[in-house]
Amino acid sequence: MRVPLITGNWKMYRGGEGADRLARDIKTGIREIEGVDILFCPPFTALKDVYKVIENSSIKLGAQNCFYESEGAYTGEVSPLFLIETGCQYVILGHSERRKYFGDTDDKINKRLKTAIDVGLHTILCVGEELIQREAGRAEEVVNTQLLEGLAGLSEDYISKVEIAYEPVWAIGTGKTCEPDIAERMHRFIRDLLSTKFGEKIAEDRRILYGGSVKPENISSLIAKENIDGALVGGASLKPESFIEIVRGVVSSE
Ligand code: PEP
Repeated sequence: MRVPLITGNWKMYRGGEGADRLARDIKTGIREIEGVDILFCPPFTALKDVYKVIENSSIKLGAQNCFYESEGAYTGEVSPLFLIETGCQYVILGHSERRKYFGDTDDKINKRLKTAIDVGLHTILCVGEELIQREAGRAEEVVNTQLLEGLAGLSEDYISKVEIAYEPVWAIGTGKTCEPDIAERMHRFIRDLLSTKFGEKIAEDRRILYGGSVKPENISSLIAKENIDGALVGGASLKPESFIEIVRGVVSSE
């Protein structure tokens, strides 16, 4: 039985002022809700403040990226070890905005995953095709490559520390949600791929989150699908009422 996971990716918002307020408002709004895991991923600079708000609750803390070395002369990078020190249990890797603007390749993402898990973090590996790739009938091929190269060389133990987020790039921040049936087809494809490569048990246990313009109005139809185990929420995670409604939508659909 996979417990749904709802993750708020705050992107490059609420990095200072306002981060603890956002965390507090959501924490208050969901305090009676059970049966769903919640993860906040604020910017690096807000991690400590947010941790102070959630440390005695079941809400978990994650970062939006980290480097693939745990220490060294790498000016401007953030070690996964520092994330642990600030209270993080998770890190998102391979988000499409990182792939697009910061040159994150499957190879670099794979190295980051390994180091993050080495130091004790859980990870969320993001995969997803661009519109032009979907229109060319290549969506599965793209996701197949991102997934297998991202997970290359990871042992069973390590894969048990990875959740997957399917995020069609054309649905991120655009307001265009992927139809639940189309998302479910890709989630099924990902689970089958995990099963073929790593075995049925691993495939059945891993949570596969959907990301791309998730909002209160569409969460119920997405989460109702057999292979959609939660959501990675960007824009709507910055508005307490919307994020709380999304979490409620997950619970009421169970
Ligand atoms: C994201 O940041 O991963 C995301 C899916 O953003 P949005 O919900 O705004 O589309």
